[in-house]
Amino acid sequence: MAERVADVNERIAQAAYRAGRRPEEITLIAATKTQSIERIAEALAAGITHVGENRVQEAVGKRATLEAMTSARPTWHLIGHLQRNKVKPAIATFDVIHSLDSVRLAQQLNQSLSEQQEQPGRLPVLLQVNISGEASKHGLALPGGPANTIALERLLADSAQIAALPHLDLRGVMTIAPLMPDPQLAQPFFRQLSQVREILAQQLPQHSWQHLSMGMTNDFEAAIAEGATMIRVGRALFGERPT
Ligand SMILES: *Cc1c(COP(=O)(O)O)cnc(C)c1O
Repeated sequence: MAERVADVNERIAQAAYRAGRRPEEITLIAATKTQSIERIAEALAAGITHVGENRVQEAVGKRATLEAMTSARPTWHLIGHLQRNKVKPAIATFDVIHSLDSVRLAQQLNQSLSEQQEQPGRLPVLLQVNISGEASKHGLALPGGPANTIALERLLADSAQIAALPHLDLRGVMTIAPLMPDPQLAQPFFRQLSQVREILAQQLPQHSWQHLSMGMTNDFEAAIAEGATMIRVGRALFGERPT
């Protein structure tokens, strides 16, 4: 595990230097769906400090177990689709939500946060954007990227509604590129997400929009070339997932 973590970190550093960037600008999130508690604990011992889970229920149990058995306190990212009936446990378990994909979900999150007992803080969230247009993917639809002016207007209108919710802190955007035989072919999708972020930062400057969550095992180097600040990596760290 330590070797795999070191190897991924080295690839991140190389990709960053090739792009004229500093490796510290890029946060490695270990995508831990289906991985056992023991494997995740090994990853934390090897220096992983951010974990990403896809399902709320799976993460609730894993986080509680890990906190009982280790002193590591990683940052927990929700990277899978969030159903509106799971908003409460999601807020309790995750530090950052990458998969904010509708105005209704945003309103539900805002409502639940406002009902919290303690002084409600603002929850860091990223807007998930579906740039590939694949029906299998969630996200605010922007097939073809920002050149699709009709879809862009709709995305900006939705984003403005979400940006007005007082308990959400919009930190950036996230996408999942289509699986390509050659990772270079994913690069245009990453470039388009970067353009979307710039447009959002101009239109809604009350939020930071600093993060680009993009790139996975197959394509994270191409994502770093286009400015990724968070990459979500599973198989390069843990091997093929048990099915
Ligand atoms: C599983 C998953 C990843 C990691 O994928 P790998 O190919 O294992 O690196 C990243 N992002 C999301 C949203 C995922 O579901």
